[in-house]
Amino acid sequence: YQAKRDRTGVEVYESKRDSNTPDRLGLLGDLRRALDAGDVELHYQPKVRFDGKVAGLEALVRWVHPERGKVPPDEFIAIAESSGLMPHLTEYVLESALGQVAKWQAQGLKVPVAVNVSPRDVHTPGFAGSVAARLARHGVPAGALQLEITEHVLLEDPQRAADTLAGLTGHGVKMSLDDFGTGYSSLVHLRRLPVSELKIDRSFVARLAVDNEDAEIVRCTVDLAHSLGLLVVAEGVEDDETWERLRDLGCDAVQGWLVAAAMPPEETTAWLRARGSRGWRRPADVAAEA
Ligand code: C2E
Ligand code: MG
Ligand code: MG
Ligand code: MG
Repeated sequence: YQAKRDRTGVEVYESKRDSNTPDRLGLLGDLRRALDAGDVELHYQPKVRFDGKVAGLEALVRWVHPERGKVPPDEFIAIAESSGLMPHLTEYVLESALGQVAKWQAQGLKVPVAVNVSPRDVHTPGFAGSVAARLARHGVPAGALQLEITEHVLLEDPQRAADTLAGLTGHGVKMSLDDFGTGYSSLVHLRRLPVSELKIDRSFVARLAVDNEDAEIVRCTVDLAHSLGLLVVAEGVEDDETWERLRDLGCDAVQGWLVAAAMPPEETTAWLRARGSRGWRRPADVAAEA
């Protein structure tokens, strides 16, 4: 999909270029209505450190279409991005995530939450200020919010992106670089982005235990990130062997089905409470102790 942009860099929806227009337009309308009706939900997936401490939760959007069932986020996010609905979706997600953080805070659960934002958001004028205002309205400290961005934010108008990100970090919001290694990664980009965390894409993590080249890529990424003072999170960790390799390579935290899949809010609350101050422990370690 090649987006056409107007002079201000805003994407213009061009129906002629879209192969399945009726379908996409139908889904777009349904998504808009679902957002208005509050029918879109957030699930939360833990990021845990190797000592078991819960470093944070990532909010992942979930939409169950009344006729089609679960629509994968990658699919409807692409539609939202190419149609101009993205800022609305992001507002919805931020609002919902911050409301949940405030609830957890009131229950004594102090856990930072990461929200994914699209390049479109970062290029929306006033984005940094609107995030700060939203935090204030919910009484949530900026340090409890992390925003996950990708290198795509630098594809167009890098200066505006840099200004927005500087505005956000200036307010105390932490930035995380998602899907590292998949797109336009370069050292120049990394230096330009005011991020405090780097997430290694699942495509490198998945075959880490069996593929020497992937293991080398992960090793170099961890070393590079550490030399720049960044924390490193590996995404998509599904088994013990991968967990052990990542620990040995000096990675800081993991996220993946080995720990937990993304869970609805109430289940997340129960998960956090059950782990308590001891944090998450691998089933293998629990079994070894018993
Ligand atoms: P992401 O931010 O890289 O999120 C990680 C994806 O990997 C999630 O897919 C998560 O469910 C999945 N995952 C987590 N652990 C494992 C594992 O161990 N194995 C495997 N195979 N997969 C795992 P999901 O929820 O389908 O989201 C896909 C993408 O959609 C996200 O990738 C993110 O780019 C985007 N997305 C999700 N929610 C939002 C949102 O609220 N706003 C925006 N702008 N994008 C979002
Ligand atoms: Mg993410
Ligand atoms: Mg990712
Ligand atoms: Mg990804």
